[in-house]
Amino acid sequence: MSERLLRGVGAAAGAVMGPALVYREAQAVPTAAKAGTPAEEQARYEAARRRAAAELEELVQRADDHGREILGAHQLMLQDPEMHDLVAASIQAGKPAEEAVQAAVEQFAGMLEALDDEYLRERAADVRDVGRRLVAALTGRSVGLRLERPAVVIARDLAPTDTIGLDRSLLLGIVTEQGGPTSHTSILARSWGIPAVVAAHGVLEAAADGMTVALDGDSGEVVLDPDAGTRIRYEAAMARAREQAERDRAEASLPGETPDGVRVELAANAGSPDEVALAMEKGAEGVGLLRSEFLFMGRDTAPTEEEQYAAYAAALRNAGGRRVIIRTLDIGGDKDVPYLGLAKEENPFLGVRALRLCFRRPELFRAQLRALLRASVHGRLAIMFPMVGGLADLRRAREALAEARRSLEAEGHPVADNYEVGIMIEIPSAALLADHLAAEVDFFSIGTNDLVQYTLAVDRGNPALAEMYQPYHPAVLRLIDRVVTAAHAAGKWVGVCGEMGGLPAGALLLLGLGVDELSMSPALLARIRRLVRATPFAEARSVAQQSLALGTPEEVLALVEPLVRRGE
Ligand code: PEP
Ligand code: MG
Repeated sequence: MSERLLRGVGAAAGAVMGPALVYREAQAVPTAAKAGTPAEEQARYEAARRRAAAELEELVQRADDHGREILGAHQLMLQDPEMHDLVAASIQAGKPAEEAVQAAVEQFAGMLEALDDEYLRERAADVRDVGRRLVAALTGRSVGLRLERPAVVIARDLAPTDTIGLDRSLLLGIVTEQGGPTSHTSILARSWGIPAVVAAHGVLEAAADGMTVALDGDSGEVVLDPDAGTRIRYEAAMARAREQAERDRAEASLPGETPDGVRVELAANAGSPDEVALAMEKGAEGVGLLRSEFLFMGRDTAPTEEEQYAAYAAALRNAGGRRVIIRTLDIGGDKDVPYLGLAKEENPFLGVRALRLCFRRPELFRAQLRALLRASVHGRLAIMFPMVGGLADLRRAREALAEARRSLEAEGHPVADNYEVGIMIEIPSAALLADHLAAEVDFFSIGTNDLVQYTLAVDRGNPALAEMYQPYHPAVLRLIDRVVTAAHAAGKWVGVCGEMGGLPAGALLLLGLGVDELSMSPALLARIRRLVRATPFAEARSVAQQSLALGTPEEVLALVEPLVRRGE
């Protein structure tokens, strides 16, 4: 038989070839079970919910940052009161619990699928995933897909929790018939570095278990049973990727330094103590942002001071003496935590978020600050406050920290003397007042993700505005320039922990503007390290300075791109 070529949409970059594992999940059709009494069915439903919640909790323990976010959304859906009311009404009307769940899920998913917005449409898959778990719990089955040997997984669509549950060390690639590049499965594949192709129509029918399959997550090509020529092509691409990975490993210990001798610390962002360890393996010179939200999400109660202390101490130990910047809680905005009972807001990104929330919940803030200070003796700690709008926020946060320190000392707890205290610059007012703020901190870290959204008034999570979300906007660059100048004038250092620092053009502009540290996803470090080591600072500075005088992001990119190409 000759090879069969299919075209899908590339969802996660990279080429791979290996044996297929075809996942033909039985549709979660409810059995034609006869309903018990409504009270019995309601009790079965409640028990299934508890089981589903326990399963999700178990998955949370194994998930990374992205996985936890997805699972957090599933946990919320499982508690959704509207969903309950719908299910309960069907049960009262005499339906078995399976059918009641299925009907409610389809009603919700149908509503989402009717929307214009692609991102929201794809959330229907999450609703169905939760429904499938509930129905499986009702019928005593377990859900999910397990890998026993390395394989390319082929499926109609992978429910987000199917993907989270997969053993990453055995997953070679993913091909699905359905799904889009913004589905959770695609997002996860990208963050794991696993090649993926979605919307490959006909693949499920044409593929068989064990058949060799080659896929290219850049072009969207899928080849079933590839012939000799195709195999050679894919083997060569895989060999190149392996060589690149080896080169990355070999270069991991090289410092971020330009050929003309300017140092920029290349640090990593992390979402848990385990990710701190991973970042060190990838050659991070420190952790520029540890988001402490990981401790608070996907659970029913706030973590205790003890629990937090253990986690922060582990993060510091995993960094082996390198600096770890731990950011205090940034909940609110688009991150909800049900047990905190936050009010729904019209504009959550402009609402009770981060420090604003901590000031209203002093007990929550105090426990975190005490845990951080207690952990300070285990490594090189820096404490960072998010969403500082001006001096009042900074002073209030510092006073809470001082109070936490006094309380620990009164109790005889040891606290280090050498921890640093800094703030994120992510609100334009803070960027404009950076000279005042610089006098009262040890460092700044610029949060470009939020600084861009607040400067340009473009919601960072709204896919309809994705094209308007422009980190290279000269207005943003001018604010960053001002922040760097103010920090250096006060003898303080300044880093960047937003996504811009991990983009090649962004990294060069920031380097040229004089930023001292760039912190990014560990997967991006190797590329940015190579670029920094190949680009003379004098050239980066010249491009950055010229950019400040330009009027549009397009002009900025046109200026910086030749420098990126030359450095790569
Ligand atoms: C930022 O705003 O750039 C940032 C790093 O914080 P977060 O993405 O967590 O809001
Ligand atoms: Mg932010």
